[in-house]
Amino acid sequence: MKERLLTGDRVTGNLHLGHYVGSLKNRVELQESYDSFFMLADVQALTTHYKQPETLKAHVNQVTLDYLSVGIDPEQSTIFIQSLIPEIAELTAYFSMFVTVNSLKHNPTIKAEASEKGYSDLYYGFLGYPISQTADIAFCKATVVPVGEDQLPHMEQSRKILRRFNQLYAPVFNEPQAIVGDCARLIGLDGDSKMSKSKGNTIDLDSTKQEVYDQIKKAKTDPARIRRSDPGHPDICPIYTYHTVFRKEESGGINEGCQKGMLGCVECKAMIAASINTLLEPMHERRDTYLQKSNYTKEIVQAGTERARLIAKETMEEVREAMMLNYF
Ligand code: ATP
Ligand code: MG
Repeated sequence: MKERLLTGDRVTGNLHLGHYVGSLKNRVELQESYDSFFMLADVQALTTHYKQPETLKAHVNQVTLDYLSVGIDPEQSTIFIQSLIPEIAELTAYFSMFVTVNSLKHNPTIKAEASEKGYSDLYYGFLGYPISQTADIAFCKATVVPVGEDQLPHMEQSRKILRRFNQLYAPVFNEPQAIVGDCARLIGLDGDSKMSKSKGNTIDLDSTKQEVYDQIKKAKTDPARIRRSDPGHPDICPIYTYHTVFRKEESGGINEGCQKGMLGCVECKAMIAASINTLLEPMHERRDTYLQKSNYTKEIVQAGTERARLIAKETMEEVREAMMLNYF
């Protein structure tokens, strides 16, 4: 039997290049070797978007199409909706009994996200989302979790929670391993923070050729470089980072040309936009094929959710037995 892989995305918007290099590319490569579960994280979306439930349905559809467009194969992998697996909520409640509030408050990603969002007082669901994420991984006993860098503190916390469960009750769970992609944290077009759906600094996987050119054109570069002949500082330029990620082999020449003031930003941007468009082209083709099959995304998500539910029920039987909650 294959080991399981689980990962997911908040249904808060389109998937972007950060998702691709941080996690999606790995998922596609691993889906043959692992029994893979990809979760449309609607409950986790609500931790910050509880006032906009009307946005979830469209984003569920959008993220599913993004998955299919990068090459996730619904015949091999299971795509499912988080809120339709009530066992995840149940596990979250049990795990919550032995996770301290302080350990959550000190989680560096929780701290960073709370300060970005300006939360002075933390919502219970937001603070506890590493616990709910542990339940996501645990319900299907996943052993590997492909994620970006921001998820590493949560993975550490998940391992601790599952270890503790095993010590307290019975050895039901494995300790999952995080697998980080080629680029653990892709910088956004603003050059200030990671590319992120909620920051509007993304290049989305469904962007048209023209949109990619326009977005790259507007992206920040080295502010000290005014004329083409000024020596540039590629290390602080998001465009240079994209060269190292998407045109790795040629990036040495870009670095030199920029530093020596021989390569202008306009030319440099045109090269990276062309490479990104080449990367996105097969994704667009796959997306179009899937879009032509009406109701297809809905059907695969429904089937995936049913499969996930069966596995969740099996795990809960073991959990209830371990916790002596098997009354009848
Ligand atoms: P939001 O702003 O709504 O939180 P997001 O863009 O951060 O959205 P998530 O759904 O939170 O996306 O993250 C899904 C997965 O993609 C996680 O494993 C995360 O680590 C990874 N990821 C997201 N952004 C990047 C990035 N810029 N670079 C690398 N990995 C990323
Ligand atoms: Mg995020």
